Amino acid sequence: MKQYVISKATGYASLLMLYPPVSRAMTAEDTEHLCIGMGFFLGIIVASLVALFLTRHGRNKYQQMSLRLKLAQNNSTVAEQAMQTLAKEQQDSQDLLEERVQERTLELNIALQELESANQELERKNVLDELTGLHNRRFYDQKILAEYRRSRRNLTPLSLVVIDIDHFKSVNDNYGHLAGDQCLIWLAKFMKQSLKRSADKAFRYGGEEFCLILPNTDVEGALLVAEQLRLQITEQAFSFQEIEIALTISCGICTYQQEADIGPEQIFSGADKALYQAKHHGRNQTQQYILTE
Ligand code: GH3
Ligand code: MG
Ligand code: MG
Repeated sequence: MKQYVISKATGYASLLMLYPPVSRAMTAEDTEHLCIGMGFFLGIIVASLVALFLTRHGRNKYQQMSLRLKLAQNNSTVAEQAMQTLAKEQQDSQDLLEERVQERTLELNIALQELESANQELERKNVLDELTGLHNRRFYDQKILAEYRRSRRNLTPLSLVVIDIDHFKSVNDNYGHLAGDQCLIWLAKFMKQSLKRSADKAFRYGGEEFCLILPNTDVEGALLVAEQLRLQITEQAFSFQEIEIALTISCGICTYQQEADIGPEQIFSGADKALYQAKHHGRNQTQQYILTE
């Protein structure tokens, strides 16, 4: 049927073109053929036009789509670049922040160290005598109380030695106050050396008076320490601007052995009384005071 239609259409089309109407009279069959052929051609033309339209339409759609695709690709590239820039900026600002935090932490650490060393210095100054470097009176008050309590708790003897330079006023008077100061420093050096145990402590009680706290030390032990120091001072002359100045000290000892009604003040007072005895008996000697209950 398909072949029949095509052959007829082709035949009638050629008939239409090869046989002009003048050459012979058209029969009804020719007319029918002609109509069919024309219809066929018209159909082809319409189909071609439709195909052309559809092709154009499709191409336009494709172009639009590819344009959109390109646009979308461009947009995604731009977005990706923006993301990268943003990420880099974020990283940069984070790096900067970390750097600043590190700087601040360092500054803070330095400030803390300075504060700590200032505190240590303050604490040191608080317990030390500036001239001699020995412990000061304030620290003596704390230490004697602490050692007194320990002595009571542990039932151990506690000795206190009070030391005073003999005729120290004459050193100042004869050689000047500076010589007097140097003399105090010189004596302090010997006092530090005289301490046998780490628990033993030397103090500048005030002026030219010093004392030694000797925990867990009985009267004999304290006598030994005081006498060794006194003899050393007697044997070594203090030299100031190449002038040798002979010095002596007097010592008073008091030993606490859990006697009743005795506190740190009574221990000091006992040692001071012994010192007075030493001065009274001619100086350059050590005396002891016996505590009674
Ligand atoms: P004594 O044998 O009776 O102890 O006589 P002394 O002269 O040592 O005692 P006195 O109490 O009469 O004199 C103590 C002197 O110590 C008087 C004071 O000027 C001096 N002195 C106290 N503190 C210091 C000081 O820090 N530096 C100097 N250079 N002298 C001081
Ligand atoms: Mg004196
Ligand atoms: Mg004195």
